[in-house]
Amino acid sequence: MPIAVYPASFDPITYGHMDVAARASALFDTLILAVYDRPLKNLLFSTAERVELVAAAVAHLPNVRVDTYSELTVHYARKVGAKVLVRGLRAVTDFEHEFQMAHLNHRLYPEVDVVCLMASQEYSLLSSSAVKEIAALGGNVDFMVAPHVAAALRRVYSRKEQA
Ligand code: ADP
Repeated sequence: MPIAVYPASFDPITYGHMDVAARASALFDTLILAVYDRPLKNLLFSTAERVELVAAAVAHLPNVRVDTYSELTVHYARKVGAKVLVRGLRAVTDFEHEFQMAHLNHRLYPEVDVVCLMASQEYSLLSSSAVKEIAALGGNVDFMVAPHVAAALRRVYSRKEQA
């Protein structure tokens, strides 16, 4: 029963992440979308909010569950019995980062392997940071994120404007 973990910040989840999740869920018996609790970058959404947005985005995929973790990704993978980490590749720039991470993770946990799915063409230019940049300036992000995520972005940025 192969279990795979798709670890990411998901700040917030985009159609690109959702596409990778849907395609990976067809390859593995169980897929865990693991929301990283404390990335070394500024987050817009709290962990609870990110989990809620991810859960709603993948609710239609029966073999996918959502979890959070704050330890090393490989330690989390070992804890849940996963031997596969799923990542998405958008461009050559992603490749360099993923290549390095895959080797480091393999060194830390030799049983683990990384499966990278190529981003679908229509989502290959999507990133959470671009979503936030556009949403912060009042742009339309409906083609980048699911409606409930777009609504959450509007809520956050209208709060910030009022502050
Ligand atoms: P992290 O903080 O771990 O980089 P991200 O949420 O930015 O978290 O991305 C997590 C993973 O999802 C990475 O492997 C990234 O390449 C992939 N990913 C992000 N956006 C897309 C997309 N539009 N299409 C395919 N994969 C993507």
